[in-house]
Amino acid sequence: KHPPETLVTLCNHQAKIRGNETAFLFEDKEITYRQFDCYTNQVANGLIKEGVKEGTRVGYLAKDSICGFEILFGTAKAAAVLITVNWRLSAKEILYILNNGAAEVLFVGEEFFDVVASIAEELITVRKIICCKGTHGEYQEYVQWKEEQSSLETRVTHTAETPVVQMYTSGTTGSPKGVQLAHYSFFSLLQGMYAKGDAWMNLESRDTLLLSLPMFHIGGLWWAIQGFIVGAKGIVLETFIAWKALEYIEKLKVTKVAMVPAMVQFVLAEPAYKNTDFSSVTGFLYGGSPITPAVMRIAMKTFDCDFFQVYGMTETGNMAVCLRPEDHTIPWNEKMKSAGKPLPGVEAKVINFKHQSVPPNTIGEICLKSPSNMIGYWNNTKATQETMIDGWIHTGDAGYIDEDGYIFICDRIKDMIICSGENIYPAEIEAVLSEHPSVKDVAVIGIPDDQWGEVVKAIIVVQPEQEIKKRALINFCRGKIADYKIPSTISFVPSLPRNPSGKILKRELRAPFWKGLERQVN
Ligand code: ATP
Ligand code: MG
Repeated sequence: KHPPETLVTLCNHQAKIRGNETAFLFEDKEITYRQFDCYTNQVANGLIKEGVKEGTRVGYLAKDSICGFEILFGTAKAAAVLITVNWRLSAKEILYILNNGAAEVLFVGEEFFDVVASIAEELITVRKIICCKGTHGEYQEYVQWKEEQSSLETRVTHTAETPVVQMYTSGTTGSPKGVQLAHYSFFSLLQGMYAKGDAWMNLESRDTLLLSLPMFHIGGLWWAIQGFIVGAKGIVLETFIAWKALEYIEKLKVTKVAMVPAMVQFVLAEPAYKNTDFSSVTGFLYGGSPITPAVMRIAMKTFDCDFFQVYGMTETGNMAVCLRPEDHTIPWNEKMKSAGKPLPGVEAKVINFKHQSVPPNTIGEICLKSPSNMIGYWNNTKATQETMIDGWIHTGDAGYIDEDGYIFICDRIKDMIICSGENIYPAEIEAVLSEHPSVKDVAVIGIPDDQWGEVVKAIIVVQPEQEIKKRALINFCRGKIADYKIPSTISFVPSLPRNPSGKILKRELRAPFWKGLERQVN
């Protein structure tokens, strides 16, 4: 018997074998696997009635909730493709994504009615808008629409290769790109690992997963689906709120948690964390951006469970590389600075600018070949051909692989600073500065300089009620990094601009300094 290999077969399978168990919990509402199967059939039939066909793009612009997952699986059952829109974007950016993806049906949450109204005339392809989510639970219009539909299975055919979601990259380095992912992106990597006897995080039906990563990014969607695959219970958070996450962990006895480093930081800055009972948590997944050792140390002490760091990107269908619990040691070991090793089934290499593989410990561009890699970017053959070559995703990340096969990420190639011919990776300097007790947050960028081309600038957020002199910070760096990497200018700001994945928007920080100039790295 073949294991379920599409979201559609998976959903039917779970309804049969654990129909009465809870699939998702959102605020005070629970939904069983059987109910979920039934509602998603209704969504699919409703979409088909609206004229949705195989490959039609359907948009979802709402905060996370059970109806978001219903719409995802319902879209899959109609063989259509869901575009999960990052609702934190501006109206203009949302318009760009929906028009780029040519969405024909759009599900909207109440909070975003105004945004949609403001762009409605320019939404050329959208012909039906369905209000799905209110500020408290489902919107009546959606419930009614759903109830009018048949709950029988659709007769649409799917394969593991059928595209199912179109997710836009975080847009950290430029305009977001529409990454087309097929069903296999959610199954093939872990299935292959399980088949080899690698239990990875030991996800199982008894688990309760905290779904605190947004479903509009691959990390959040992938994590929720992994829970669904094993038949676990998913606790949906509308949006991440640290105290709520803590409350849920304790009250609902959450066993597996996934967060981006910025969320970990928020949790540890929330006074309630000191009185929270974390004893139910057995596995903690984190990744998506670099984490500082200072934060990591407190997190490990607080949660006292198995830690897994993952590295991957939307284009690789989420994680491809993982640092496992045995490498999370106190005292610190060298491997803790890495993102881990490629997971079984994933190949990794580092190449130079001539696209040749380089020897261990040499910095170049990290390339990944995963069984979960994307189909390609939507409507952008040029970008697809540049990014995916012979099945290898060129990540745009600079890094190296050591002699034991551990991957170390230096930084994004686009963020690299070239100062007098030397390549400088801001992440290294950020890691040093973040160890200073008065530093709360830090970003390092390159700013133009007549003599050196570019020089290093640190932008610092100071811990509340503390003061620090620039000179002291510079002295703090001495001996820890090479002199040419020590910031030549430092400024202080109240906060740093981040995108919803918690990544610092370096291009925004750089912009005022580079007006009218061109950077060498771009
Ligand atoms: P865009 O491609 O639009 O600029 P993005 O690359 O930030 O946006 P994602 O696909 O969400 O969009 O993120 C993938 C990137 O996140 C990776 O290329 C890498 O730079 C960073 N990243 C992911 N995991 C880690 C990790 N464990 N440590 C450090 N960086 C990470
Ligand atoms: Mg990217």
